[in-house]
Amino acid sequence: MGKEEVHEVLDAIVVGAGFNGLYQLHHLRKNGFSAQVFEAGADIGGTWYWNCYPGARVDTHVPNYEYSFGELWKDWTWSELFPGWQELRRYFKYVDEKLDLRKDINFNTRVTRATFDTVADHWVIQTDSGDQFRARYFIVCTGLSSKPYTPDFRGLDTFQGECHHTGLWPQQGLGFAGKRVGVIGTGPTGVQIAQEAAKDAVHLTIFQRTPMLAIPMRQRKLDPTTLNELKKDYARQYRQRDEEFRQIVDIFPPEKGTFEVSAQERQAIYEESWAIGGFHFWGNMLNDVLADLAANREAYNFWRDQTRARINDPAVALKLAPTEPPHPFGTKRPSLEQNYYEVFNQSNVTLVDTVEDPIIEITKSGVVTDQGEHQLDLLVIATGFDAVTGGLTQIDIRNTDGVSLKDYWAEGVRNHLGMTTAGFPNMFMLYGPLSPAGLGTAPVCAELQGNWIINCLLHLRDNKLSRIEATDAAEDVWVQHMQDIAATTLFPLADSWYMGANIPGKARQMLNHPSLLEYMARCNHSAENGYEGFMLS
Ligand code: FAD
Repeated sequence: MGKEEVHEVLDAIVVGAGFNGLYQLHHLRKNGFSAQVFEAGADIGGTWYWNCYPGARVDTHVPNYEYSFGELWKDWTWSELFPGWQELRRYFKYVDEKLDLRKDINFNTRVTRATFDTVADHWVIQTDSGDQFRARYFIVCTGLSSKPYTPDFRGLDTFQGECHHTGLWPQQGLGFAGKRVGVIGTGPTGVQIAQEAAKDAVHLTIFQRTPMLAIPMRQRKLDPTTLNELKKDYARQYRQRDEEFRQIVDIFPPEKGTFEVSAQERQAIYEESWAIGGFHFWGNMLNDVLADLAANREAYNFWRDQTRARINDPAVALKLAPTEPPHPFGTKRPSLEQNYYEVFNQSNVTLVDTVEDPIIEITKSGVVTDQGEHQLDLLVIATGFDAVTGGLTQIDIRNTDGVSLKDYWAEGVRNHLGMTTAGFPNMFMLYGPLSPAGLGTAPVCAELQGNWIINCLLHLRDNKLSRIEATDAAEDVWVQHMQDIAATTLFPLADSWYMGANIPGKARQMLNHPSLLEYMARCNHSAENGYEGFMLS
């Protein structure tokens, strides 16, 4: 039990001080709601507080990975098109200074339990210090990646070198110089860290289970003149985003289909997207790459041939860019790379294919695979996260019948509009499951979903309503809609975190809505029809 309560009943409690939580705090306060944020980390920034490993950087280029309000972007200067974690932290500090957020954030405080008081119609929130707080609305912004996942490697606890998960990197920093480094995992974080470690590790061993189909980032420095030129178009870009709901990764872009153009034209489109860099080759290129297997295969072949040309050893090239795709291109989150494939041409780098040469165990001195031991000083666990749902279900959130959210979702996530769940009144999730999270850029979702929630709270206040709750029927419709729309894409064909398939025992389902346009249309339709799909009282 928590300590005796001394706190006022707040309008809202927000969990998490990343893009979503901070946006909520600012707009709640602006609209006269009392609100407090609880954050497990010691500072703001969310993902960029925890992911401070060398090379950690965003894959969404400027100006898509920042808030769109002019009072912020007009005076802010990025130094790179794809900013790194240090610059992102500086950005959050700047946002805090401008919006005066910190005074309402409780750092180093993890929310552990939340129950709904059905008599008073408010949430009772418990933290790891044992304190209890009450609020009418419980707004959970725990993000995609706040629960790191480490597979159950035999002997991991016996390793006597240093061992860190990328999502829990030491805040004081840790480099690779003079060390024998092992990286397990070749997802986006594994790729980023491998590029850095290859620079000065004595030896780098990269353990790969599935080849990463990484695409060129084309990073570049931004001097103030260039940035000012770019800024001239920001307002138009943000307006277009808010009106047309298009973003940089668009699974259903309005462009032509792969086979509607000639082979020559197709090649030119591939080459152009490849040269632009960033996520262009993934989304926004041709309209069927992520929806049609034959179209996808054409894109894969282009990717494979471009990639192989950069790798000196043909045997290594076959492992990194196999003849047959390991899964449809782009159905696992591609990494943006800068020199990932050249890394394997270095004499201090070894690739271990753990399908052919599986990891048997971890010993006090390194990683033992079928073919022998790889001695290491530093072992990096780059195996990702219990993505999308992990941050939510690790809090003991109880519905009005006392059932935990984790149990309620044991057979698969159910919710309405990716933001609310039946039986959990007055609770909202941002960037959560069955919403565009994962395929949607974080600040974009923070603003579009965030505005929807703030408008909903204003509607409740204006109409003197104290409770909102999704209906079972609305959840059924939403789950079916997600299944139907996922089936029009190739995502269900890959064992990815998009499908919940990276975590043993997790229900397999498409967790991320693939169309921001369709998603926002449905959210807006509900609001415009008196919050259709909800019970208001
Ligand atoms: P987060 O930034 O994850 O913040 C959630 C916060 O909640 C964390 O600070 C956490 O400590 C806190 N929290 C969680 N549980 C509790 C609890 N019980 N009590 C108190 N606090 C809690 N997205 C993109 O759109 N583009 C990218 O290029 C991109 N690159 C990424 C690169 C990396 C390495 C990673 C890990 C993620 C990346 N993402 C990217 C996804 C990323 O999650 C989002 O960009 C963004 O950070 C989401 O913001 P958020 O506010 O929803 O969550």
